[in-house]
Amino acid sequence: RRRLAGQDNALSRGLLALLAKDRIDADTWDEFEETLITSDLGVGPTTELVEALRTRLKVDGVSDPAAARAVLREELLKLVDPTMDRTLGTEPGTTADGERVPAVVMVVGVNGTGKTTTVGKLARVLVAEDKDVLLGAADTFRAAAADQLETWGSRVGVPVVRGAEQADPASVAFDAVRAGKEGEVDVVLVDTAGRLHSKTGLMDELGKVKRVIERTAPVSEVLLVLDATTGQNGLVQARIFREVVDVSGIVLTKLDGSAKGGIVVQVQRELGVPVKLIGLGEGVDDLAPFDAEEFVDAVLS
Ligand code: GDP
Repeated sequence: RRRLAGQDNALSRGLLALLAKDRIDADTWDEFEETLITSDLGVGPTTELVEALRTRLKVDGVSDPAAARAVLREELLKLVDPTMDRTLGTEPGTTADGERVPAVVMVVGVNGTGKTTTVGKLARVLVAEDKDVLLGAADTFRAAAADQLETWGSRVGVPVVRGAEQADPASVAFDAVRAGKEGEVDVVLVDTAGRLHSKTGLMDELGKVKRVIERTAPVSEVLLVLDATTGQNGLVQARIFREVVDVSGIVLTKLDGSAKGGIVVQVQRELGVPVKLIGLGEGVDDLAPFDAEEFVDAVLS
């Protein structure tokens, strides 16, 4: 079983340290609060958690560690929000004219966060579900990006549509989705560019990619890829991308590394959309659906 972010991250350490006490005094609460804030949980969620725990644990000493643990688990789970719908829109659809069209998943995010890797790993997951998948290399700015996507395509056995270097990203996305429709493919995954030096440029580009795709098929998911190890930086990126496209789900990558865990809660709050997938390594099978209960249990293990 893969190691989920949890054990030994800052969030986990803070919570477990609290549980290890048989008497909790004011200093302990302060320390606890501080650890949670540095765990990327954020000030708001930390305050809520601490207040809830203080009330429910009656402040003065926890007599029963098992009971304390249960309370902690419940309160943390509330923050991670198990009620969010985390299903991925990957079922082919039908247009108003009754034509079958593939589900289209746009994958967006800043370069280096793990977009291309996520596209490859997600293709693998879908192929394992017996879906016909096609990849579109709409990051035409970097030749290496399309090459990297092709490597993933051959690794997982799915075709890749790419354009000439510097081609219009929207036209490549259009071609990919059109090819997917003609080939009766189930899902088209579109990898996009993520250079941030020109926010307006990015905004125009991603907006156009989406509009052009939608001449053929609706976009079922816009997945924003965020690197969990970058902490607050991820939040800044989330804000920018939210302005650019309607993000429907978050992919948190590198949760296998030095990520502090609490970012899951913050980023969901910031965007109001769920973390749907998590990246747990660089390998082809290192992508998992995000499961709130599993996450909380890993943090508390
Ligand atoms: P892109 O520029 O956003 O397309 O990012 P890439 O897909 O090229 O990934 C950037 C780097 O992060 C590569 O070295 C990947 O192998 C690595 N990477 C991606 N996802 C994960 C993950 O979940 N865990 C780890 N440890 N590394 C990852």
